[in-house]
Amino acid sequence: MKPYTISFFVLLFALQASAQHKLPNVVILATGGTIAGAGESSVGTAYTAGKLPIDALLNALPEARKIANLTGEQVASVGSQAMHDSIWLKLAKRINELAAKPEVDGIVVTHGTDTEGETGFFLQLTVKTAKPVVLVGAMRSATAISADGPMNLYNGIAAAASKRSENRGVLVCMNDQLFSAREVTKTNTTNVATFQSPNTGPLGTVFDGKVEYYHSILRKHTIQTEFDISQVNSLPKVDILYGYANMNPVLLEAVVNDKAQGVVIAGVGNGNLYPTVEKRVKEITRKGVVVVRSSRTGSGRVTLNSETDDAALGTIVADDLNPQKARILLQLALLKTKDTKKIQEMFFTY
Ligand code: GLU
Repeated sequence: MKPYTISFFVLLFALQASAQHKLPNVVILATGGTIAGAGESSVGTAYTAGKLPIDALLNALPEARKIANLTGEQVASVGSQAMHDSIWLKLAKRINELAAKPEVDGIVVTHGTDTEGETGFFLQLTVKTAKPVVLVGAMRSATAISADGPMNLYNGIAAAASKRSENRGVLVCMNDQLFSAREVTKTNTTNVATFQSPNTGPLGTVFDGKVEYYHSILRKHTIQTEFDISQVNSLPKVDILYGYANMNPVLLEAVVNDKAQGVVIAGVGNGNLYPTVEKRVKEITRKGVVVVRSSRTGSGRVTLNSETDDAALGTIVADDLNPQKARILLQLALLKTKDTKKIQEMFFTY
């Protein structure tokens, strides 16, 4: 080979290396879910979540390496119905370690959709970074026709690689939309448009890898919160009970006997409680169990001392957090205090 041919290749290599160097560095933390699910048939709904490792997902998406330098880590491999506190803590601690590195620009978490909103909110309250943290999932398995995972992952990487995503709290990227983890919830069992933020709508969109925001979250999050999980290895036990006409108060006994420190009740309407349940709630709050009223309606605020007299019952209201998100905030609050006034303030802050 002639010397100038060699120099040409050296130059080409250097140009490529410098282009790569300029790309943002995004770390993908994989936890499993349908996005990593594989099935026998491309049309059936039967599949096993969390089967494919993160490298397989990234290798199937070469386009993503053109918008960011990617590294993948497998944190867990579960369908998100099996998500639990210790994976949340492991994930939050790993994100905090990674985000502290100057060379890391953004983090993507791949997750099953069943509890994606819950993990997102836990991270929203516990990760200490302004860098983008974006959760992505899929409604169709990786082997299904028109699988939505690759596009969600590509868009999620684009969002995590974008400076525009900084200081926005933890985001969930699904179906071309960007949602605040505080607000978003799964609203449909099978549809790809399942993720919605019923009280606020999405924060923005990602289309063809282009990120655009229209709204911001005002509630405190990430670096603004008082929650430090760096030394925490387990979370306080908090259960959720679902309200209904003629609700059985024995359910409360069960969770209290099982040593729950807190209970969230998905009450009817504005978080209202069946009379015999209300009576029992008053007794257990006096014994120090913290009871939060949320609602089974799916949207709106539960308001303090409205139809239900919280001052008399010793209860707290969830504001506009749905029951599963109220549970997470209560778990974190109970790490710090059992004072119901302080906990109520947290529900108006986060
Ligand atoms: N149960 C599965 C999970 O949450 C399926 C939901 C999904 O990922 O779409 O992992």
